[in-house]
Amino acid sequence: MSKSLFSKIIDREISSTIIAENDDIIVIEDINPKTPIHYLIIPKKEIKDIQSFEHDDFHYAEKMFKMAQYLSKTVPGASDFRVQINSGAGAGQQVFHVHMHFLAGTKMSD
Ligand code: AMP
Repeated sequence: MSKSLFSKIIDREISSTIIAENDDIIVIEDINPKTPIHYLIIPKKEIKDIQSFEHDDFHYAEKMFKMAQYLSKTVPGASDFRVQINSGAGAGQQVFHVHMHFLAGTKMSD
């Protein structure tokens, strides 16, 4: 199986703006931001989408939410934020390596 775009970013084969990183998660700036702050919270394990999560993968969900909380507490202007996960092409997923969009920096309604 060929590497996903995000695995190539994790392995530094493709450059991106890295916001935060730990053993399990990398956070990068979205290349096409929808809000003034638009990050992608990505598990380092290449899991295609939420439907593909196996039992042992669910701890990544906790780590992704913990990272969202950390970003909201440390990034200026990001205390109020929205997270979104697109799972499956029909839901708008374009990169098939699960990731959480972290959106902030503007007033959002529905
Ligand atoms: P999704 O549609 O949920 O799969 O989201 C994929 C996101 O990846 C989109 O918001 C893209 O703008 C973003 N994206 C695509 N290529 C890159 C890249 N090289 N660096 C950072 N973000 C990217």
